[in-house]
Amino acid sequence: MLVIMRDHASREEVQHVVDLLEEAGAQAHLSGGEVKTIIGVIGDREVVYSLELEGLPGVEEVIRVLKPYKLVSRDFKPEDSVVRVGPHASVGGGAIAVIAGPCSVESEEQMVSVAASVKAVGATMLRGGAYKPRTSPYAFQGLGLEGLKMMRTAADEHELPVVTEVLDVRDAETVAEWADVLQVGARNMQNFMMLDELGRMGKPVLLKRGLSATIEEVLSAAEYVLKGGNRDLILCERGIRTFETYTRNTLDLAGVAALRQLTHVPVIVDPSHATGRRDLVDVMCRAGIVAGADGIMVEVHPDPEHAKCDGPQSLTPEAFGELMESVRPLLELMDVRLGWD
Ligand code: PEP
Ligand code: MN
Repeated sequence: MLVIMRDHASREEVQHVVDLLEEAGAQAHLSGGEVKTIIGVIGDREVVYSLELEGLPGVEEVIRVLKPYKLVSRDFKPEDSVVRVGPHASVGGGAIAVIAGPCSVESEEQMVSVAASVKAVGATMLRGGAYKPRTSPYAFQGLGLEGLKMMRTAADEHELPVVTEVLDVRDAETVAEWADVLQVGARNMQNFMMLDELGRMGKPVLLKRGLSATIEEVLSAAEYVLKGGNRDLILCERGIRTFETYTRNTLDLAGVAALRQLTHVPVIVDPSHATGRRDLVDVMCRAGIVAGADGIMVEVHPDPEHAKCDGPQSLTPEAFGELMESVRPLLELMDVRLGWD
């Protein structure tokens, strides 16, 4: 349920509603704009309805939400959310994130070299997996804690925030110690225990769309994170499974546009995992931005031929430089800017 307060409702009026809700055992999440406060209510429906909040001073309207998500919806918060990452980076509200780096962390030299080259052409965050979700248990599984440390060193040397995956909720605290953004991979999108846990932690979360998740399922998963109190969430369209096999997955650009309508949470695209082909990554980055994406995630490797993971979709640093050159004029055209200050 959403309680829409009248324009300029007083702080006491808002607090009165919150008190009543909390006394009834419900949770009240406030979204305060310049003029309007909206209260997102989570709790037993019947109990909450019986409070008859419509009649209270300062209350304009009570909306009974039928969707399985509330806090992520634009009804709850009409304006774009902006997620700050580290001292300089941001995403959302016209700030475009450029997250670049290899699929997996392989060595400190590799990470330092990638960090230097992507930073030089405008990347705003460094990515790399230390805990890898591999289809085969015999494939490279990542360097774990050592990998996190290597990436942190490289990122600090080049003043970039670190984005990396939490594969198992048992590693969440460790990953949070070394990273700035906690990525939930496609295979874990509906790992609700993990989403709950990350929702209670104070680190930005990047939630990737599941391989066959619907838009409603993505938003419901996102709701878990916000419900825990964490407001720093970024969604990522990384391609979904379709009948098409020419590309690794199918980049759902209409899904990006739909998500931008439905939620205030920033949405980025990952054309590397979506296409699986380096020759399609740059054009799909531009298409994603045109569709309204708040950022791009791109796999970049100093030597893609010898990458331990996802070489065929990884760009060389030079190709990434060309991609950035092609993206810059588009940002201007769309009246958005790189998310760095
Ligand atoms: C990744 O970004 O490293 C990754 C494994 O992606 P996804 O979870 O989208 O497959
Ligand atoms: Mn990868």
